[in-house]
Formats: sequence, C-alpha cells, structure tokens
Amino acid sequence: MNSALNWDEYFMLQAIVASFKSKDPNTKVGCVFVDHKNHQISMGYNGQIAGLDEAKLSWKNAKDLPLDQQKYAYVVHSEANAILHSKGELEGSKLYVTLFPCHECAKMLATVRVKEVIYLSDKYIGSVENNIAKKILDLSGITTRQLQLKSELMNDLHVHFEKTLSEQ
Ligand SMILES: [Zn+2]
Repeated sequence: MNSALNWDEYFMLQAIVASFKSKDPNTKVGCVFVDHKNHQISMGYNGQIAGLDEAKLSWKNAKDLPLDQQKYAYVVHSEANAILHSKGELEGSKLYVTLFPCHECAKMLATVRVKEVIYLSDKYIGSVENNIAKKILDLSGITTRQLQLKSELMNDLHVHFEKTLSEQ
C-alpha cells in the first residue's frame, strides 16, 4: 500500500466527503478552500437554505415545473456555503471542488479573489453557463485544472477503511 496522499488527493477526498453530506438526490457537490500553506480554510456542500424548513422547499430538478417548485430556486451551492461560512481570508486560496463551478459561483470566486480552482467533474462542459463561468474565471486570472483520482487510490482507501474498522 502506498504510504501517503499528495495534497491534491488529500483535499479532493475531503471535498468528496463534504459532497456525501448533501441531501440533493441527483447532484451532490462538495468543496474545500485551502490556503497557501495547505491548511483548510472552509468546507461546504450544496444544501437548502440554512435555518429554513426543508419540507417546505424542493429537491425536484424537473425544469418543466414552475420555478418555485424546482430545487434551483432554493439550493445554496457548495462554494457559496463555504464562502458564507468561512472563518478565514479566502484571497489567494485554492478551491478543491467535485464539480466545475457554475457561473454564479464563479462570480463569487472572482470577488473573493481565489487563486486556483481544482475540480473533478466538468459535466456541463460546453453549456452557455459553463462557458460564462470559464470566462469569468479567466478574466479574473483564476487558473483551473482537472484532477484525476487514480483507481488504485480508491482501492487503497478501501483496504485502509477495512483495516481501521477491523481494529475497533
Ligand atoms: Zn454554483
């Protein structure tokens, strides 16, 4: 078994763990903001508006429903949650996120002056909104790169979990 995770793997796995906390039945997104010393600043996942009764909101994603019955009217994205709840300075930070940021989050990332975005999936590539997000990040000088997690890493983690649990 390999000895250690590199920083990219370490923080992307944290972003994945954060995404696992999301109640969205279709799209679970998680993220972590990290400073230049590789210390975590903030973490988030996509969720309904904090403090509101979720039963009165919606997780439905059908775009033929009236907007007030769609999740898009209410869900706060992982990046927005992490920014809103950050206890540290985000300027110059790196963002690890499981899905390439949408154009609304790109506006916020540009405003708080993030330095780099490292992402796993870019499933909306080619869409108008995705192109707008990339334009905003590009104009802001925010670099982006896609991270591939190796399947051996997943196997190693599985072995590690089993070993850890067996020692309880
Ligand atoms: Zn977003």
